[in-house]
Amino acid sequence: MKSAALPSTRVTPASAAARRWKPSPFICGAAAVHAGAAASLVAHPGAWPWAAGSVVASHLALTAAGLWPRSALLGPNWTRLPEDAGQRIALTIDDGPDPEVTPRVLDLLDNFDARATFFCIGDRAQRYPHLVEAIVARGHAVENHSQRHRHTFSLSGPLVMKREIEAAQRTLTEIAGTAPRFFRAPAGLRNPFLEPVLCGLGLHLASWTRRGFDTCAKDAGTVTHRLLDGLAAGDILLVHDGHAARDARGKPLVLDVLAPLLRAAAERQLQWTTLRACLDSQAGQP
Ligand SMILES: [Zn+2]
Repeated sequence: MKSAALPSTRVTPASAAARRWKPSPFICGAAAVHAGAAASLVAHPGAWPWAAGSVVASHLALTAAGLWPRSALLGPNWTRLPEDAGQRIALTIDDGPDPEVTPRVLDLLDNFDARATFFCIGDRAQRYPHLVEAIVARGHAVENHSQRHRHTFSLSGPLVMKREIEAAQRTLTEIAGTAPRFFRAPAGLRNPFLEPVLCGLGLHLASWTRRGFDTCAKDAGTVTHRLLDGLAAGDILLVHDGHAARDARGKPLVLDVLAPLLRAAAERQLQWTTLRACLDSQAGQP
């Protein structure tokens, strides 16, 4: 298997073809508020308190939209699988790879013949390249969760965002052998600059349908219940192999969550798939 430290002889583009950026109606509305405020200031300088107030209000609305991970107000966002996914559901696993948790997660997935999507952090992938290689070798997908997973990501401008995402794209492509096609923002938080950057890199934003809060929960039962409550075809579930919370005995919660979750999905005749497999089947449609 290839190590990240070795130069690659494989020619693999680090990004898919760029997508065309189309501002969402919400972004267009915010732009119109700004233009209207400027015009009213020129026509009626005395109306500046109203103009300033409307601009501040539109900024607050944009910020609120960025703080809502499942929002599609700032641009397209996969919160569920596409309509044609049938009985399929997707398990997404964030913040790894982790030398203690990831190998055990891979074994659990193998036990149920389940395929998952790992949103890896570039820095961690560089530290544990053999784990990223194992994820791919065992049939799972590796996607982009930024290079450093900085909590200030959503406060960044377009250049910093692009640098973070591009660095992870290069790292993960080099190790996994195929370019990520999805991006998930650290903590799911973003701002209006993200979607144009993702379009330029040919990436799709993905969030989730339901999550277990397994980085801060106290016990596995609560996490499992959150994920299973209302579980339905088309759902995208979120758990973590990195930053995993531990129970009183020090065992990462996710390791006690996966078996009941995978068993319940099988009982409900739901089949696990990856986000990129759904993207491929969408692209293959007439
Ligand atoms: Zn994360």
